[in-house]
Amino acid sequence: MARGGGQSWSSGESDGQPEEPPAEEPGAKMVKETQYYDILGVKPSASPEEIKKAYRKLALKYHPDKNPDEGEKFKLISQAYEVLSDPKKRDIYDQGGEQAIKEGGSGSPSFSSPMDIFDMFFGGGGRMARERRGKNVVHQLSVTLEDLYNGVTKKLALQKNVICEKCEGVGGKKGSVEKCPLCKGRGMQIHIQQIGPGMVQQIQTVCIECKGQGERINPKDRCESCSGAKVIREKKIIEVHVEKGMKDGQKILFHGEGDQEPELEPGDVIIVLDQKDHSVFQRRGHDLIMKMKIQLSEALCGFKKTIKTLDDRILVITSKSGEVIKHGDLRCVRNEGMPIYKAPLEKGTLIIQFLVIFPEKHWLPQDKLPQLEALLPPRQKVRVTDDMDQVELKEFNPSEQNWRQHREAYEEDEDGPRAGVQCQTA
Ligand SMILES: [Zn+2]
Ligand SMILES: [Zn+2]
Repeated sequence: MARGGGQSWSSGESDGQPEEPPAEEPGAKMVKETQYYDILGVKPSASPEEIKKAYRKLALKYHPDKNPDEGEKFKLISQAYEVLSDPKKRDIYDQGGEQAIKEGGSGSPSFSSPMDIFDMFFGGGGRMARERRGKNVVHQLSVTLEDLYNGVTKKLALQKNVICEKCEGVGGKKGSVEKCPLCKGRGMQIHIQQIGPGMVQQIQTVCIECKGQGERINPKDRCESCSGAKVIREKKIIEVHVEKGMKDGQKILFHGEGDQEPELEPGDVIIVLDQKDHSVFQRRGHDLIMKMKIQLSEALCGFKKTIKTLDDRILVITSKSGEVIKHGDLRCVRNEGMPIYKAPLEKGTLIIQFLVIFPEKHWLPQDKLPQLEALLPPRQKVRVTDDMDQVELKEFNPSEQNWRQHREAYEEDEDGPRAGVQCQTA
């Protein structure tokens, strides 16, 4: 069995709705391991957009700011994204699994820091910028497709640090800040430990007195308002204007609204739109896609149908006289898609995919079938001769097929290397 190519009945596809036309199903993909895909919760056939979206949701959920106990999970999400978002690395992973990723390059897997990946993704600036500016804060804002179609203003309550007004960010009375006597302003303490005869080890730890600040304020001089912390946690309401035509994952920047810190320019608040799935429409760029079920009689004899738009209008669509709509056929309505961002009077296209509902078995009494047949295009006659084999036509169950293919792959692995694996390594 050749890998990488061709179609297979992957287990991931078996939950699909049976009425879906096969043309719409993305081809299932054979990969060596699925661990990275599992971490992001996507199928191996996922598009780059789906991978980006999955990372976006998980990274915001497990970011140490929001979920301090999930550092390991945050790291795994970041590593999976780093590999799967790079077409070359994804290819290596699909062919050879994690082992191949680890063997590529210098021998040890060189993953970027999860924070760098996060900052790059959400446009937070690199490490250099972070030294002079406070941290950016990223929040996700859940919106409906209706919100993105019509535009909406949402109020969001944020907690943020602001410089204490009472002490103006000093933390105590003027002149009360002194160099930490324990670490002499270094912020670190060095312990020397004897680990054997004539052998000592130096251990560096964060100073317990000043917690790495290098300075401290005498407790009796501390600002009462902020207890020496220099900043106060405040609730702030920001108004987010979601404009017509904005899209899932789009960022809205609030410059300088991040946490304030003494002697630092505050970072930004970045709001990331997260579109909830819609029950009828799927968005693709400026276009909206919907599926519409029609009866076989409507497919053959014509129909009139209504569609409720995202701004609550009712569209009436009518098939042309004499037209036949086949299962999976596409039709479109111009200018009924999504409004275009910054030019909302223009809209994309509404694409309708028709799903023809065939009647159940025995829907028509046996004796009426000839009447129907007389109206339909004639059937093809086949001449059966004695040298042909009569075989039984049975129902086909894809999941059964799936099981058999997996067993074959397994048995081949036992026997030795498989043909077809060596591609791409030359
Ligand atoms: Zn200290
Ligand atoms: Zn204060």
